[in-house]
Amino acid sequence: MVKFGYLKPRSIDEAISLYEKHRGKAKYIAGGTDVMVKIKEGRITPRYLISLNHLEGLDRIVYDDGELKIGSMVTHRMLELSPLIKKRYPILADAVENIGSVQIRNVATIGGNIVNAVPSADGAIPLITLGARVRVRGPSGEREMALEELFVGPGQTVLDPGEILLEFVVPELPPRTGGAYWKHTRRAAMELPLLGVAVLVSLAEDMETCTLARIGLGVLAPTPMRARRAESILTGERLDEGILKEAGRVAAEECKARDTVRGEAWYRRAMVRVLVPRMARIAMERAS
Ligand SMILES: Cc1cc2nc3c(=O)[nH]c(=O)nc-3n(C[C@H](O)[C@H](O)[C@H](O)COP(=O)(O)OP(=O)(O)OC[C@H]3O[C@@H](n4cnc5c(N)ncnc54)[C@H](O)[C@@H]3O)c2cc1C
Repeated sequence: MVKFGYLKPRSIDEAISLYEKHRGKAKYIAGGTDVMVKIKEGRITPRYLISLNHLEGLDRIVYDDGELKIGSMVTHRMLELSPLIKKRYPILADAVENIGSVQIRNVATIGGNIVNAVPSADGAIPLITLGARVRVRGPSGEREMALEELFVGPGQTVLDPGEILLEFVVPELPPRTGGAYWKHTRRAAMELPLLGVAVLVSLAEDMETCTLARIGLGVLAPTPMRARRAESILTGERLDEGILKEAGRVAAEECKARDTVRGEAWYRRAMVRVLVPRMARIAMERAS
């Protein structure tokens, strides 16, 4: 039987000092849906689990003056049920309502999803597409960075030992902005995506010219990526069918799709070609 101490700090500083005290033997735990699986499989053997569950202020969704802040301990279910997220950030709602099952979504957190840093993390793609930043605090103080910069490779982030992800900050979006996310799976239930595609567009007053375009891709590179060449094709242009298709073609070209047991690279690229225009059309509808 696996044995470990379960520590319940009451403040962020206490959590960090417990981590320092048990350095090399401790692991933070949020919902535990990734941590407990890894412990059961013997992939990690922490002597102490430091729960982030009792830390104040990390489970809030706050919208203030156009800026959205999401605490790292917010569960997928909280995001899914938030009228604010549904109405203003459907790109994120699309992602979280398709994570695992209701039971998983009730305990699994958005912070855990990001720090776990698997290329298939559904939460990461809409957040990088929204241009989210992350605020983190650790033994050497607090810092902020673009969420995209947090990822280094599969399962790896730039977080230093003991750093806690505190919150995501989504900056104000221009008017007439819409977004959509599609998680492409082989079957409908409880599956990690074969690929994930998010598109965000802002439209000019004519409701056709694109003033801002962002395309986020998941499972199509070792880390969640933006398809910047495809974005530049859309920006400043009238979004007709031809240009949407061209963006899909370029996104498929610039992604780094690989063959894996769950799907082959050619198929993933073919789906990017189809899904980028499809998500862009939904994003345009939502922008209005
Ligand atoms: C049956 C099942 C289905 C799933 N389906 C999906 C799916 O469809 N899509 C998907 O993306 N994922 C899925 N997952 C993966 C998992 O549920 C998510 O990644 C989840 O969001 C992880 O959150 P958690 O709070 O449980 O993280 P935990 O397991 O508690 O932690 C994950 C990692 O993050 C670290 N950590 C957690 N919070 C913080 C923090 N605030 N600061 C610093 N480090 C932190 C932990 O130390 C650990 O390394 C599934 C998992 C299961 C078991």
